[in-house]
Amino acid sequence: MSKSQYNTNNAYEVLIWQLEAGIDHCIGDEPNNRFNKKTENLESTEKKAVVEINNGDNFQSIENNKKVGNMGLIDASNSQSLIDIGSASDNKLALSSKSLEELEAVVRGFDDCALKKTSANTVFSSGNSGSPVMFVGEAPGADEDKEGRPFVGASGRLFDKMLASIGIIRDEVYLTNTIYWRPPGNRPPTSLEVAQCLPFLQRQIELVRPDILVPLGGLAAQTLLKVDLGITLLRGQWHEYALPDKTKILTLPMFHPAYLLRSPVHKREAWRDMIALSQKLSQKQ
Ligand code: URA
Repeated sequence: MSKSQYNTNNAYEVLIWQLEAGIDHCIGDEPNNRFNKKTENLESTEKKAVVEINNGDNFQSIENNKKVGNMGLIDASNSQSLIDIGSASDNKLALSSKSLEELEAVVRGFDDCALKKTSANTVFSSGNSGSPVMFVGEAPGADEDKEGRPFVGASGRLFDKMLASIGIIRDEVYLTNTIYWRPPGNRPPTSLEVAQCLPFLQRQIELVRPDILVPLGGLAAQTLLKVDLGITLLRGQWHEYALPDKTKILTLPMFHPAYLLRSPVHKREAWRDMIALSQKLSQKQ
């Protein structure tokens, strides 16, 4: 094993090491030594998730599907089957929710996504669930994690301006993310994290039933449209997202506001997309 480049006796260097590992803000007032509580944590969170969704039916099978080993650790040797197993049981959890309120409680009680342990908050949604348009971003950042609401940081401020450009205010639309918890250091979510959240997002879209779905950025667009194309190819065109009952929802992927902050030259394409959205919304009225 190579020797660490950091001097662990030097507080400043330890801080730099933490920052580089993605530990860039505090999520609690007290330190939490998770090495002491591995088994206990998993067992209690497991029970909590099951208790929160206990409204009768597929209860037992959900519990059985979420098997963990003796050490309280999930066997990740085959990540593909892990994704499949996770999705099937999480799908049952998601489908057990008959309203957005129930779904939010289920997501808040869901402890299988490791991101929850390093986050201060679950960021479920904001805005008007009766809106004809639903935006889906990528994942909460530090500001969203602190406040528990999507798009409250710098990209949220640009998002507000984009909405204002077509005469809409944020509270009029419904807003969520592909991932409900902040990835440490804002790293991109892994495919396992996306797979774990997807059944809940799909159920969320089904319960909101917007006329128009707007994925913001490549990850949201690829996840919802199940394609491998980049956002540059996906944006600017109407696609369809199919609900389980085969209802088709018009879907217009757009650049993520964070990308527009980094590459303002692309704001002109974003402006065209906002106009297309506005025109479609007025046809729907
Ligand atoms: N970026 C996102 O994709 N979502 C947020 O909520 C904030 C920043």
